Amino acid sequence: MLAGVEHVHRISAPYKLAGRSFRPQGTLVNFPNGIKIGADQVVVMAGPCSVESREQLFTVAEQVSKAGARALRGGAFKPRTSPYSFQGLGLEALKLLREAGDRFGLLVISEVMEISQIAMMLPYVDILQVGARNMQNFNLLRELGKIKKPIMLKRGIAATLEELLLSAEYIMSGGNYDVILCERGIRTFETYTRNTLDISAIPIIHKLSHLPMASDPSHGTGLRDKVPPMARASLAAGADVLLIEVHPDPDKALSDGAQSLYPDQFAQLMDELRMIAPAVGRKL
Ligand code: PEP
Ligand code: MN
Repeated sequence: MLAGVEHVHRISAPYKLAGRSFRPQGTLVNFPNGIKIGADQVVVMAGPCSVESREQLFTVAEQVSKAGARALRGGAFKPRTSPYSFQGLGLEALKLLREAGDRFGLLVISEVMEISQIAMMLPYVDILQVGARNMQNFNLLRELGKIKKPIMLKRGIAATLEELLLSAEYIMSGGNYDVILCERGIRTFETYTRNTLDISAIPIIHKLSHLPMASDPSHGTGLRDKVPPMARASLAAGADVLLIEVHPDPDKALSDGAQSLYPDQFAQLMDELRMIAPAVGRKL
């Protein structure tokens, strides 16, 4: 009834910006080096759980880049269950990540745990990861809505997919539309795995949302030998990104060693993923 209004579209989903109808064609997250997330190419992000030393990081960065990863992961600030566990190297780790990323041509992703770390991280990382424990830290999400860098938002251990999408909405409603969602396993009654990787979350999110969807089979299973099969299954189910922990010497890792792949295991997995991708219309 108003002059100048041609069409009114009712969005009944509670997540207005994250919902599929906002951008039926899907979202592409673009990086200056030409990498796009959400396109045909599946982007593999790999590296250690935590940055532990220059030698550790540069060794594994070279190995994962040779195997075909496009991004280097590594925690500088670690959300550990125990306050006595290794908490991360902080700023020193961020500097090492940037240097290693530039040396081996890899994007850099690292976890932000609190608002005060955002400004410190911006010069060093290409993607800020919000961990499972912070998925509903709404103050943090709002601040991440004000910046111009892509965010990877991981599903909380007891979060529904609607809650995940509403958390994405917190970021997007601030103006940052470059959000990548990530399934990283949820807590169930099962004890043979650390978490239960909900692979069905991948097609469900693709139906409900235009945002790219990642899978993290490392935290999703917690067991090294279960990571390759779940990575293959995630790719087959339509994941746009795979986030995989790799350590040059997993038995000596300061965090998540039991779920970290050996570098040659990662290279073999990449060969397998390269065979699966074309079967589901993707590239690696
Ligand atoms: C991580 O990526 O190392 C991490 C701590 O992930 P999550 O928040 O999924 O536990
Ligand atoms: Mn980890």
